[in-house]
Order: sequence, then C-alpha cells, then structure tokens
Amino acid sequence: MSIYDFERARVKQFLKQHRAKRAGIQLPAGLRQYLQEIVEPFAEAGVETLVLADSCYGACDPADARAKQLGCDVLVHYGHSDMGVSTCLPTIYIEARMPADPLRVVERVLPELKFKRVGLLTNVQHIAHLQGVAKLLRSRGIKPFIGRPGPRAKYPGQLLGCDFGCARSIATRVDGFLYIGTGEFHPLGAALATGKRVLAVNPISEGFKVLAPDVDAFMRRRKAMIVRAAAGKRFGIIVSTKPGQARFKLAARLARNLRRAGKVAHVLAVDEVMPEELGDFGLDGFICVACPRIPIDDAERFERPILTPFEVRVMLGEAKFKPYKMDEAGKGDF
Ligand code: SF4
Repeated sequence: MSIYDFERARVKQFLKQHRAKRAGIQLPAGLRQYLQEIVEPFAEAGVETLVLADSCYGACDPADARAKQLGCDVLVHYGHSDMGVSTCLPTIYIEARMPADPLRVVERVLPELKFKRVGLLTNVQHIAHLQGVAKLLRSRGIKPFIGRPGPRAKYPGQLLGCDFGCARSIATRVDGFLYIGTGEFHPLGAALATGKRVLAVNPISEGFKVLAPDVDAFMRRRKAMIVRAAAGKRFGIIVSTKPGQARFKLAARLARNLRRAGKVAHVLAVDEVMPEELGDFGLDGFICVACPRIPIDDAERFERPILTPFEVRVMLGEAKFKPYKMDEAGKGDF
C-alpha cells in the first residue's frame, strides 16, 4: 500500500455519477509507481482506463483535450488540487493527501524554531495536518497563523510553485514561517516573497530535515544571470500552451518592452519547455512566462541565460533588483 490516500470511494462515485465507460488518468511522476493501486477502483467499477502518460507537473495542465480525443468520457487527475482551469470533460482532482501525521517531526524541530509568531505553510499533500500543527504550537506558547489561499491555491496555508499568496497574506504578522513538505523551491519562494526566515520540515525523509533556504546565494545566482542576459540582443519569450501556463498577454507585453529597448524578441509557443529544442533559434537568451519554476529550477539545462518576467524588468532598468520578486501566475497574466 502507498503512503497516499487515493480516495477510492470518491473516484467510484464520480465514475458512477458520469456513467463513465472509459476514464483518462493523469499522474505526476511521484505517483506513477502506484498505478496498480490507483486503477483498482476503476476495474471494480467496470471502467476502462487510459493513462495519459505525458509529463504532468500541476493542475495547470489537465489532459482533458487529449483524453477526449482518445474517447474518454471523464478525466481523473491525481496529485494536485483544482486551480479552476476549465476543462472539456468532467474532471475530478484527487489530491493524494498523505495521512502520516507530521506532529512528531514538528515537535522535534521546535527548539530550532525560535519564532514567537509563526506562519504555517505546506503543500496539498499535508494540508489536513496544519490545524493539528497549529494546536501543538499553541500548547507550546507559540502563536500560529495560517494565511488565506492565493489566486491559484485552494486551501489556507497552501503554497504552489506559482502562488505564494498565503505566505504574503500573513507576512507582517509573523516572525517567520514553518513549511511542512519536501524540496527547497517552496520555502525559498516563501522566503523571497516575504523577506522572512522559513524553516522547512521534511516529514517524509527519515527523521527530519530543517532547511533554511540560502536566499543570498540565490540572489547572487540570479543577478549573474541578469548581467549575462543584458549583454545579449536577441531573446526568445517562452510561452506554454498548457491551459494554466499560457500567459500570452504577459509575453506580448514583454516583447513590446524588449523591442522598445532596442532588443529583438520572438514569442516561442511550446507545450513542454525542452531546452534542447530551443537552442537552435540562435538566440542570446530566454524569458520564461510558462511555469515560474523553470527559470529557477532548470536554469542549468539552458545553454543561454533564462530570466523571469521580473528579471527582464530589472534588465531593462524598469525595476530594482531588490526587493527581489519571485514570478507568480496572477489572474491578469492570461
Ligand atoms: S505553473 Fe508550475 S508551479 Fe504552477 S501549478 Fe503549474 S507546474 Fe506547478
């Protein structure tokens, strides 16, 4: 059995409600190993399954159109919460929450915390445990805060790689943040979005890991990237056709600004951003208006510098480098 809750009863109810005959299933990389367990309720309901096995990084990328084209009557998307992207098939989001309680791990990390008022942050897998963590903190004399969700998140306290709204909404009321989850991107993003210290507790690794993201090193890397890009003349603005990443309006605005500054700008539309495919255009640098994580997490995969929309504004002298602004997908960008 897996460490996730795949909500079998809810899946079956959804299949029954829509009289599904063939269901498309979409899984992010981390859940693919559980495929056998995931398809069980479909088999029990007598519903044929088709796994849409292209990459799947978020609810910004529902595979409803492909599923429909392949004769599916519903789509079951695992591992992410619904962010309101409209779909052409009935779609259900199974968030794959992790029942394992992080309290013991959090308890061990409390001496490191040194905050009197702390903001709680997590991803959707651990969202159900935030109130329990808040209760634990209160019992130790620490005041917890849980921020309201930003434009793309669904739950209070939920961070996405493109939405740090819940951290910003309480930043002035807390001394720092406690993030429960894996990886460095989210705590780093929260630290940069708020200017506050973030401790990250990884409840999955053995024991726990406290991570204080190295904001200074990050800033040095990004400054160097902007300086390298500024020496270039020709830029590719990368837009993704994934429905929740397609910030074409923002791409057009950036292209105008670059041209006004005497640069050459081409808008490049792709489904998946593949650095090796983009190298042939003879460009000096890239600007990513697809998933905001790409220029940060995948920069070393590009031969040329790759900037965020904010960093372009810095390069063109329209904004100051500090305070640094992480790229986030807002409603007006589409
Ligand atoms: S745009 Fe990127 S960070 Fe946002 S949900 Fe999609 S994959 Fe995640």
